[in-house]
Order: sequence, then structure tokens, then C-alpha cells
Amino acid sequence: MLRFVREHAPCSRADIAASTGLNKATVSSLVADLIERGLMRETGLTENRVGRPATMLVLDGSPYAAVGIEINVDYLTAIAVDLSGRRLLTWRRTFAGPAVTSGQAVTAVAALARRVLTRMTKEARRVLGLTVAVPGLVDLTGGVRIAPNLGWTDVDLAGDLGRALRGPDFPILVDNDANLGALAEHRFGSFGDTDNLVYVTGEAGTGAGVIMDGRLRRGGQGFSGEFGHIQIDPCGPTCGCGRPGCLEAVAGIARVSTDKPVFPFSPAEIEPRIDEMARLAAAGDRQALNALVGIGTDLGRGLAILVNLLNPQAVVLGGHYVPLASWLIPAAEAEVRRLVIAPDAGGCRIVASGLGYGAAALGGAARVLDSVDSGRLPGRG
Ligand SMILES: [Zn+2]
Repeated sequence: MLRFVREHAPCSRADIAASTGLNKATVSSLVADLIERGLMRETGLTENRVGRPATMLVLDGSPYAAVGIEINVDYLTAIAVDLSGRRLLTWRRTFAGPAVTSGQAVTAVAALARRVLTRMTKEARRVLGLTVAVPGLVDLTGGVRIAPNLGWTDVDLAGDLGRALRGPDFPILVDNDANLGALAEHRFGSFGDTDNLVYVTGEAGTGAGVIMDGRLRRGGQGFSGEFGHIQIDPCGPTCGCGRPGCLEAVAGIARVSTDKPVFPFSPAEIEPRIDEMARLAAAGDRQALNALVGIGTDLGRGLAILVNLLNPQAVVLGGHYVPLASWLIPAAEAEVRRLVIAPDAGGCRIVASGLGYGAAALGGAARVLDSVDSGRLPGRG
């Protein structure tokens, strides 16, 4: 019912009954329950239908907040939304990911989370949950197995964070940043009505979140979408994971932002270098344009594998790829069309994300909303 009202509000109890197949008495009692929990409210709106006015319902959720925090090599982002998805805050701060231990990272994330919680409490909102996005392999229990660009192995992030926050009364989830970026695109992005999409992170690492038939696909242990570690060139530069010629090393952001395609370089350099590259390309600098065509073509070679395998309707490029998209996408598209057997690349479009930096943080908040929509409801009062 929450999902239906989220998508069709304002709507009446009769609309809900008709679409869910529940009888009207059941719908009325469930609506009463949801109103009591502050998740739904009646609006003054009525709709004349066969002469009988109906009270219309919308999602309420103003007493609640869903929070996402994104950990990246160069920044932390926190985003909070209310139950209806309205943005409550967006905070971004620089973070020297590779220079700190996972313990120090937990301290930094906990400090940011505490500030968000304090703000939400001041606004008299209850936090429904916190999801933390990590650029690495996150297993199905939320354990971080490997995050190469942060230098982490086997970190119980949810547990450590829960202890740092002294056992909060809401769930803490941990997920891969690309998975959460895909959830954000699916719920809030311009391809939200697309049930088959791939979101590609353009952070220090490159990962893919895969939504097929409307659902995030995680694979057997949760490790699907390691797009950045598809080998593009066996003789290519060594990747942060230690293997030669991974897509991340050949066509990742590190390659765009420096002549040395391999970390470490200072995370603080990434954004200025991307801006400089975009400035040079916009000014017609031949060397910059050639470099971007090369990177776009290599990216397209990787994307063609995804498109042949999955036939997505859209591939959405996020993060630092966005400011460079107008140069990368034409080259990538040409390569995808060349290498994909389906006519017209199976209808796949390659587009830049409109969600900006912090898509994974927004996806973290979206995952909390998904769990509420799936029936994990906050208690009354
Ligand atoms: Zn690799």
C-alpha cells in the first residue's frame, strides 16, 4: 500500500482496494494504522467519482528521516530525505580515504552521522535507518570484504559504526556504492521508469550497479557488478587490485585525472584535475580531446560486454564521469555500437547521471525507504 500511494498519490482508499485486491474494510483498517504511525495522511482533496467524493491519501513521513552516507576515496557525503523522498540535507566534506585506517574512517563517519542525527532530532524527526555506501566488495551480511582504494579488508563497518554510535535504535546497513547509485537512479533519476539499467560509478574506483526487471541484482555472495575489474588490456597498467589492465586502470577516473594511472595520488587532486581536463577539452585542447576519446573508447569496450550480457535500456555514468560526459559518451557509444551484436546496441542509451555527486548516499537513503515500503514499519508514536 505504501508503494502504491508513493507512486499514485493522491489516491483514495477505493483506488488502493482496486489495485491491491484487498477488500475495502482491510484497506480502511490498514490506512488507519499507517495514519497513526505518521506514514500516510489524508489531504483535503476530494475527487468526484460517480457522484461520491472520496478523501484522498498521500504519503506523510514528515516525522521521519532516512539517511545515507557515502564513503569515497576523496570525500564523505551525507544525505537525508523524508519518507516521501524530499531532500532534507546534503552535506559533503573532503576525506583522505587512503591515508587513514578503517578505524579512523569509522570515527569520521560516526562524527558525520552524529551531526545528521542531531539535526534530525532538532527537527523532531525519527531516523528510520542509515545506509553506508562503500567503494568495495560488500557481502550479503553487510561485511566489507575488500575495498582496494581505501586499503580495507574484512571490516565489520555496520558493527563498528553501531558501537561508535552507541547502539542507535535504527538499523545500520552497509552496501556497495554502485548498487546504491543504481537504487538512487531507479528511484530518483531521470530513468526512474526504466526497469533495466546499469549505473557506473566514476569515483576513484569504477563499479557497476545492475538493476534488471526492476530489481537490484547482487549475485551469489553480493559481489556482482565489479565492472572496474574486467580486464580490458592484458598489457595495460596495473590496477589498484594488483591485476594488469583492469578497466578501472585503463578507463577509470585515475586515468583521467593523472598521467600516472595508478594510485596512490592525493585524493584532493582528483576534482581539480577533472575540472582542468573539462576546461581544456571545452577550449579545444587537442591533447585533452585525444585523451578523452581514448578513455571513452576503452570505457565503451567494457560497456559493450555489459550491454551484450544484460541488454540494459540505459547505462548511467555517475560521479567524476559526469563533467566529462560530453566527450566520453560519444566515444563510448561508438565503441558499444561497434561491439554489440544487437541492432542499435539493443536500444541501450549511455547517459550522464543527473543526480550529481553523492548519488550513492542518496541511494543509501533510498534503500532505507525501500525497507519501509517492504513492510519494515516504524512503531507507533
Ligand atoms: Zn582491478
